[in-house]
Amino acid sequence: MLHNEFMDIGFYLMFYPIVFFYGICIGSFLNVVIFRLPKNESLIKRSSHCMTCGAKIRFRDLVPIFSWLFLRGKCHSCGEKISPRYPIVEALNGIVYLITFAVMDFNAQSIIYCIFFSILICVGFIDYDTLEMDLWMLALILVLAVPSALLSDAVSLTDRLIGLACISVPFFIIGEIVAVFMKKKTGERIRGIELGDTILMAVSGALIGWKAVCASAFFGILLAAVFGMINKHRSGESKFAFGPYLAMGLFIGALFGESLIDWYIGLLTYDPYAVVQ
Ligand SMILES: [Zn+2]
Repeated sequence: MLHNEFMDIGFYLMFYPIVFFYGICIGSFLNVVIFRLPKNESLIKRSSHCMTCGAKIRFRDLVPIFSWLFLRGKCHSCGEKISPRYPIVEALNGIVYLITFAVMDFNAQSIIYCIFFSILICVGFIDYDTLEMDLWMLALILVLAVPSALLSDAVSLTDRLIGLACISVPFFIIGEIVAVFMKKKTGERIRGIELGDTILMAVSGALIGWKAVCASAFFGILLAAVFGMINKHRSGESKFAFGPYLAMGLFIGALFGESLIDWYIGLLTYDPYAVVQ
């Protein structure tokens, strides 16, 4: 009905700006997590301050994205540049929430997936910075699987259990095999695929199910291969964080993986001579 369609459009015109604003505010908190968690600093105590002069960030300079633009990326007190990464992380989280609600609509599962994607942003950036993953962040993804299983039947318990193992076990085995052949001069083992990456795929598989996590691994490896090669070519450094690419892969896989895998299976089992009734 036309009347309802107009109500729908009105709802979404109001709904999406609110979602985006909410997303960039959470993104602001993600910046704090990305910056402080690797240093074991408290996430709530002590207000934000300039890294150069120590000036406290004023309340009116705390509006996500817009404050950075208004200040033209400089500290109000000493004029030192503020990294563009802050507004980028904020905008990224806002856009991720918009896409999630646009694809999944507004329900319990899409809210849980938004939280999952925010955790992925933190995991990805922290891995990029430190080449390490925070075990508590990964545990949080596993915790999310509980309300997801209780509130939605989109992914069955069997799919979750298969998802837990179907990528993580091969990742673990590949890591072990690589470690046998590759050692640093100091005798330290090089796994190729780190344990953090393996655990990330295990807990994510439990949350999004085996189809989505298989598609995620495919996209993650593809992105890592392309950007890893570009990165190696540019910096000559062959060691790079796998986590950011897996995080991107998981975002694509969680939203589109299930339908992509179904489409692919349909393609393989398509029978052109089947009689259409
Ligand atoms: Zn300053």
